[in-house]
Amino acid sequence: MPTLTHNEYLEALVHEFMGSPANDNAMPTGPEAAFDTPLIGFAAGGDPIWEQIKAEAATNHWTPLEAFRLAYPEEEATADDLSVVSWVLPQTAATREDQRRATLYACERWIRNRYVAQVRVVDELARFVIGRLDADGVKAASPDLLPEWKRFKDEKFTISSLWSHRHAAFAAGLGTFGLSDGLITKAGKAMRCGSVVVRLKARPTPRPYSGYNDYCLFYNSGLCGKCVKRCPCEAITLAGHDKNKCSDYLDNVVTPAIAAAYPDIAGAYGCGLCQAAVPCENSIPPRPPKSVRRELEKANI
Ligand code: SF4
Ligand code: SF4
Repeated sequence: MPTLTHNEYLEALVHEFMGSPANDNAMPTGPEAAFDTPLIGFAAGGDPIWEQIKAEAATNHWTPLEAFRLAYPEEEATADDLSVVSWVLPQTAATREDQRRATLYACERWIRNRYVAQVRVVDELARFVIGRLDADGVKAASPDLLPEWKRFKDEKFTISSLWSHRHAAFAAGLGTFGLSDGLITKAGKAMRCGSVVVRLKARPTPRPYSGYNDYCLFYNSGLCGKCVKRCPCEAITLAGHDKNKCSDYLDNVVTPAIAAAYPDIAGAYGCGLCQAAVPCENSIPPRPPKSVRRELEKANI
């Protein structure tokens, strides 16, 4: 093992892969980066936040230990032996700029990023990290790449899954959820994220927030709601994000439209219009000062 702290070592692995030619958006026009510089955070395997996520966000969500035991049933491990390393991969300025102009369907860069780069970059980054750790004798697993992982309909939370990278990023101090359900990070919510459970003790990243929605202007100031207007199928309202409506639009409208426009990636799936042309696109939107909020409230804005 190199003479780095566990955090530095894991960060170096993520940066090595993302700084390589593998970080490519598969555009027909030639090589171009799929993602900007990653944000990286860490959470302890024994952090009570994992039970909190089960109770408050996704009943069947695995804890890091549950995921690790599925990957390595023969290993004796406790929650405190484990850490979760989480990364946020920000969309590039070129992708965001195109996506801001899109109104009914995502732009081509976004779609190729969601469909091709998801497999070749996002999933492959996890495999790269796991492979390099394995070569150093450290066991690791990406929960969503395990055969047992699934997405399902949950009575309480509608569409849910056994491991959510966005919730892992929340646990790892990287961001909080917005009205549209996207995770608002320092690099905004136009991003993809990933996470790996590692049998290493990394120093946890402090969470500079206390609630699930602290960075969203709607929840922290009663303002904004721009994502509501960006959604072409009214899946976002001031009551939140209707995952079923969103999913139906993607299945029945977006996927056929993408197949017609880009036959080489027929079957591609993705929208993300609510992640661009909004104040939380590429940063945490600054909360207006109290005096301004009071004025806006008075004016009923
Ligand atoms: S666009 Fe506004 S309301 Fe929607 S998630 Fe971002 S900050 Fe919140
Ligand atoms: S992904 Fe598209 S359909 Fe779904 S909520 Fe966002 S804008 Fe609406």
